[in-house]
This record gives sequence, structure tokens and C-alpha cells, in this order.
Amino acid sequence: MSTPLYEVYAIKYAHHERRASENFIGGDPHDGPMPLDYFVWLVRGGGREIVVDTGFSAAMARKRGREHLRCPTEGLKLLGVDCSAVKDVVITHLHYDHAGNFDLFPAATLHLQELEMNYATGRYMCEECFRGAFEVEDVVGMVRRVYAGRVRFHDGDGELCPGVSLHLIGGHTMGLQVLRVPTRRGWVVLASDATHFYANMEQVRPFPIVWSVAGMVDGYRRLKALADSPAHIIPGHDPLVLERYRAPSKDLQGIVARLD
Ligand SMILES: [Zn+2]
Repeated sequence: MSTPLYEVYAIKYAHHERRASENFIGGDPHDGPMPLDYFVWLVRGGGREIVVDTGFSAAMARKRGREHLRCPTEGLKLLGVDCSAVKDVVITHLHYDHAGNFDLFPAATLHLQELEMNYATGRYMCEECFRGAFEVEDVVGMVRRVYAGRVRFHDGDGELCPGVSLHLIGGHTMGLQVLRVPTRRGWVVLASDATHFYANMEQVRPFPIVWSVAGMVDGYRRLKALADSPAHIIPGHDPLVLERYRAPSKDLQGIVARLD
């Protein structure tokens, strides 16, 4: 049986205005507005639906001063996904903007790198510079899911389902993973925060929230090796994603981009 080709979607659920100088280590000499979009992603094909990351809630947006546009599950519903029935959710890393809301996926097995759990519960969380983008309730919630038998740990690279693979990148966090997906246009890589913006990777100017700068820079090379071209790499927070890719239908414009 041949490997299925998958559809891949980015779904925007939140937004945040900020300056370019906040998005690069060492700032930006041409400082200007450089906002972040927040996404979850959907991979669909071969009779499977895989949700990648679970985003944050409206309450978390208020706490962190972000603009919440819709619950990520509402965004997924626009594509016909019933989140209460989804079986597989990949958590790229445990930062608050990727790993909240997972109570809204009660039937799911959560796929997480073992190193990410070690990082989020280990000694580096004693320091604000490393724990700042984590929410303790998300991390504790993940521990509860472990005890409920609902987490599958991955150790490095491996296949998730036919053709779709997980790859440990690290850098931004100790256990950050990305997803590589076979599509009709070739190998697409959902990079999540292995590169927040196209510019971080293209100009090799790392994002300032980082576990290991060296790991993050190595990660840019790794992304390029995994994808068919740089245009097959999907950054985690770049508003350009919604400009470069079309919506699957007119009414989803500005919300959903089809990436395959
Ligand atoms: Zn993020």
C-alpha cells in the first residue's frame, strides 16, 4: 500500500502586536512593527486527523495581554474537526501558546518528546528566563495526562503514522519537535517555534526566548534538510503564512491557510 498524501492547514487563533527588536537576539537596527500570529495546525489524510498544538484560552490571552480571536477548537471546527473525538494531538513543546486547552481534546493521545517533559519539570524551571513562557497549570495538566495513560513519549525522531514523522529539534526549548508531512507538493515541515518567523531562519538571527542558541541555529539547518525547499517550511508565528498560502474557501480568508 502506498503512503497517503496529507492535507495540511494552519488555523490562526490569536494575535499580538510587538516590535521587531523583540523578535531577534541583539534587537533589530530597523526596528518597526513585527506582530505575531498564533496558530494550531491540522494534518488530514489516510483516514486520520492529527492536530498539532492546542493553543491558549481566552482567559490566558487576558492574563498575557494577547488578542484572542477564537478558541482553537472553534477554528478546527471550521474545517469539520470534532475536537472531542480527535485521537492524536502532537504537542510541539509545552509553552503556554502551544499546550493550553488540552482538556478540550478528551479522546486524544498527546505526543510529546520525553526531553520536553524533563525540561518543563526539571531544574531549569527554577529560573524565570527559562520558565517565563511556561504555565505551571499546563505542565501539571500534562503530568495528569501522563498518569491517565494519555501521553505517548517520543525519544528523538520517529514515525507518527504512515509517512508522517516527528523530529526532535530542541533549541527554543529542550524538547521542541517538528512534524514532517508528505503532501501533493512534497515534504512540508511544520516547524512550530523552531523558527518563529521566516526571517529568523533565513537570516540566521535567532529568536530571544531560547534554551540553546546553538541548538536553535542547528535547527534552522535541520529544517532545511527535512523539507523539500525553504518554501516547504512553515514557521510558528509568522503573519506571512496567511499571505503566502490561500484559504481553502473564501469565508475562511484570514483564518485558515492551506499549506499543501
Ligand atoms: Zn510559540
